[in-house]
Amino acid sequence: MSQKYVYFFSEGNANMKELLGGKGANLAEMTNLGLPVPNGFIVTTEACNKYYDEGGVLSTEIEEQIVTSLAGLEKLTGKNYADPENLLLLSVRSGARASMPGMMNTVLNLGLTDETVAALAQKNERFAYDSQRRFIQMFSDVVMEIPNQLFESVIDEVKEHRNVKLDTELTTEDLKELVDRFKEIYKKEKGADFPQDPRYQLIESVKAVFRSWDKPSAVTYRRLNEIPSEWGTAVNIQEMVFGNMGNDCGTGVIFSRNPASGENKLYGEFLMNAQGEDVVAGVRTPNPIDELRKLNPGVYVELLGHAKRLESYFKDMQDMEFTIEKGHLFVLQTRNGKRTADAALRIAVDMVNEKMITREEALMKVEPKQLDMLLHPNFDQKKLAEAKPVASGLAASPGAATGKIVFSAEEAVERFNQGEKDLVLVRLETSPEDIEGMHVCNGILTARGGMTSHAAVVARSMGTCCVAGCDGITIREDDKYLIDSHGKKYTEDDYISIDGTTGNVYGEKIATVEAEVSGAFATFMNWADEFRRLRIRANADTPTDAKIAYGFGAEGIGLCRTEHMFFEADRISAMREMIVSKTLEQRIKALEKILPMQKEDFEELYKEMKGYPVTIRLLDPPLHEFVPREEPEIRALAKEMGLSFEEINETIDNLHEYNPMMGHRGCRVGITYSEITAMQTKAIIEAAISVNRQGMRVVPEIMIPLVGEVNEFKFVKEIIVSTAEQVIEEADADLHYMVGTMIEIPRAVVTADVIAREAEFFSFGTNDLTQMTFGFSRDDAGKFLRDYMDNKIYESDPFVKLDQTGVGELVKMAVNKGKEGRPTIKLGVCGEHGGEPSSVEFFHKVGLDYVSCSPFRVPIARLAAAQAALKEQGM
Ligand code: PEP
Ligand code: MG
Repeated sequence: MSQKYVYFFSEGNANMKELLGGKGANLAEMTNLGLPVPNGFIVTTEACNKYYDEGGVLSTEIEEQIVTSLAGLEKLTGKNYADPENLLLLSVRSGARASMPGMMNTVLNLGLTDETVAALAQKNERFAYDSQRRFIQMFSDVVMEIPNQLFESVIDEVKEHRNVKLDTELTTEDLKELVDRFKEIYKKEKGADFPQDPRYQLIESVKAVFRSWDKPSAVTYRRLNEIPSEWGTAVNIQEMVFGNMGNDCGTGVIFSRNPASGENKLYGEFLMNAQGEDVVAGVRTPNPIDELRKLNPGVYVELLGHAKRLESYFKDMQDMEFTIEKGHLFVLQTRNGKRTADAALRIAVDMVNEKMITREEALMKVEPKQLDMLLHPNFDQKKLAEAKPVASGLAASPGAATGKIVFSAEEAVERFNQGEKDLVLVRLETSPEDIEGMHVCNGILTARGGMTSHAAVVARSMGTCCVAGCDGITIREDDKYLIDSHGKKYTEDDYISIDGTTGNVYGEKIATVEAEVSGAFATFMNWADEFRRLRIRANADTPTDAKIAYGFGAEGIGLCRTEHMFFEADRISAMREMIVSKTLEQRIKALEKILPMQKEDFEELYKEMKGYPVTIRLLDPPLHEFVPREEPEIRALAKEMGLSFEEINETIDNLHEYNPMMGHRGCRVGITYSEITAMQTKAIIEAAISVNRQGMRVVPEIMIPLVGEVNEFKFVKEIIVSTAEQVIEEADADLHYMVGTMIEIPRAVVTADVIAREAEFFSFGTNDLTQMTFGFSRDDAGKFLRDYMDNKIYESDPFVKLDQTGVGELVKMAVNKGKEGRPTIKLGVCGEHGGEPSSVEFFHKVGLDYVSCSPFRVPIARLAAAQAALKEQGM
């Protein structure tokens, strides 16, 4: 038997989303439930995939099934596409497995021909020609890809000629004129008359829906929402019902609860005597749904009943479309409604309280990523909808920022100190010297760099919004201007706005609102904690980060990048002195300046974490991030060190590396300069002894970075242990500490059993492990990864979402080998993936003990970990 590519609504159900798409499966389910759904059928997602597999050709087999189903639909409805007395007209709409609002197009009134229009006109002339001009325009635009502007300008011309503003003010004669002129446009563009065969119209529309699956905006939407291209879209073909046949007709959209606040009250709007597109187009202002109660109480009560019934059936807030045709209500669509994060939490918690769902079900309903919106300021959604992006880059750190442009970090600090509070830092890329400037700005925009570039990592850890790698803009830092992707120039007097959640950049000021954390948030997070197995720690480099992390529920610090403690202006010079030191003496002098600062920081960190574990990583500075580049800084450093400008310059030249990411960094620095390892150990141990004397019970975890060979580990460990023992003995203290390693080099993975015999814990550095496994630089990959994703070589950026097939296999291997070498080994991850939900699920499955992520992602990781545990139980 040949494969079935078309299903009538009565043949499907809500569980068939993969095959019928979300919209189709729900239409089928509503039909089965006996709701008033106009009849129809669905062309499956498998047909879409076949269409693509066969090079964009719709097979005769599928075509035949569609034509047969059309005949079946005529029988079912008792209507006919050739019978003006009982005319069957169709709507054709896309419907993928996940809803992609507004991403794909719709054709309405399909089936109209000159003949049926002429016959319809005998009864209702205006309705007939109005429907026909809408159909010709929609079909030409959506299906035949004739520029819509050609039609719009004719409408404008006719309106101008008549001196009217609204379509509704056009006379029947005007509408007839539009029909004629639209047909002329069609003929000119296509070299043929407008098609008069409904079957042909239908087949072409189905193909157009399939094609729309691959249009650039749909591809981008899929990438942002992690929807695989193999899913394909289904096509829903449904009998039209008319909301525009008079004043007893109408159409609208409702939500079973308020999608912005979550309030349990029907929410939505409608328009009488209108078709769906009139509501969307915003030409007429729709009325709030409450008014329908007064206007037509019967229909209102029926609608409310359907909304409640569907909500408890699907156990989720529903977003529905309806039409009233001559007083009769029809439901055209239902789906789980999109909602703000606030609403998502309130609805989840309310539904548990209403006993509609269990806690477990509630936890599965909220997208972990959505929690981001609760933690950062956001754009006023109304204002955002009115703005148009002028460029876009990587959504590197969530949130919204608006402010005047500033092109250097120093100037940012200056302008901030002079009272300018709303600034956006715009740089080609950022470096550690920029840190203070980054701090005072509302957001950071860079033209270069990927998701793990300096700007992105630092912005995330500060909770500052950031768009990175925005290569569509041209930045002239020295001349202080930028040019957007449309060629418009902006100077430091201009405002821009950036959206770190979408990567969009806007050339104007957009109002922002502070994030609100509702009471439901805390309740919900406590539920998540009940179900998760993974512990959640934070990557925190400063006491401020640690405090935020603790507030968001972190159960320890999984990574303190000690080099980041030297970003601030008064400290970076000590760090630079150490880096450019030529002699041991110089280095020890610089280290002596650093020691008290480190010790104080560590004490503060321990205190902020209130007894939770703290992993401190020994220095891992890719040196190029720290050496001064500008002449005044080099001169200042020379002065401080009592050396000449030339001498320092020469040292800097000698420090130059062709490939700093694979250069003198990580434990390699601590091996060349063992005094650095000793100083850091001293600070870590002394700080722990000191806070323990104040009543805490800290067990510091000292972590060695970038190990690839057990002898490297042993070498550094020996210095750590001998220094620590000496400090403990001299202090006459009793302190337990651990020594472990990052696993971030493939060789460390392969030899993990041997390393585990020496190391008490492993923490996966998946940023470097991804870099080293793929062989592309973290700093440069942003430049070409976009092309990889556009060409579907990768579905997602492996620096954001763990590459489970490659890098993930290495993680698994190291876990197994690590346990072989030391059964009690403690396992965690501290790369950026530790806060990405699908990666968290993976880490849960492979049996890590904890994940560590930036403070602002702690709640996300808590929820993702709970969902991973629940999924394992079959939720
Ligand atoms: C890593 O490589 O994953 C890591 C956490 O270390 P860093 O990003 O500091 O190199
Ligand atoms: Mg690393």
